[in-house]
Amino acid sequence: MTAQVHKVYLSLGSNQGNRQQNLNRAITLIADRIGPITDQSDLFVTEPVGFKSTHLFNNMAIGLETTFTAFEVLKITQQIEKELGRKRKSVNGIYHDRLIDIDILLYDNETIETPALTIPHPRMKERRFVLEPLTQIAPELIIPNETKTIAELLVDIC
Ligand code: AMP
Repeated sequence: MTAQVHKVYLSLGSNQGNRQQNLNRAITLIADRIGPITDQSDLFVTEPVGFKSTHLFNNMAIGLETTFTAFEVLKITQQIEKELGRKRKSVNGIYHDRLIDIDILLYDNETIETPALTIPHPRMKERRFVLEPLTQIAPELIIPNETKTIAELLVDIC
């Protein structure tokens, strides 16, 4: 039996160290360990959201195919964050500068609501730094429990 292939969209961000290199390393590890990258947005330079810092972010969105479950993908992305040197997670919703942040935006058309994993990512609809790159690679996509496309959601918040 062949394993089922799932489509996943991730948001990547870095605002510390060599930001471009951090993202490139993350993408290489994701492709090696999770599955082939099918779509990759341009790189967007953005202001930090949710905390104050003079360090700008590099953000991008990627699409990939995987045979892993969403929880397995989370485990692997967290391991990659650790290997790339990320030390502090957000504490009580307070964010910090980070070498690398990998968020799972979408996993097929699934809705997952657990303490460890929420998909679609709960804040993706209000984050321009997520929707702008995602619009480049999946403008017509409609996320679960939504009627508008990704491109339309972006227009709404601009
Ligand atoms: P952060 O520190 O902002 O990267 O948040 C990471 C925490 O969010 C981890 O404890 C994850 O278990 C949790 N989490 C919940 N949903 C998601 C998601 N869709 N993608 C990545 N992390 C998630």
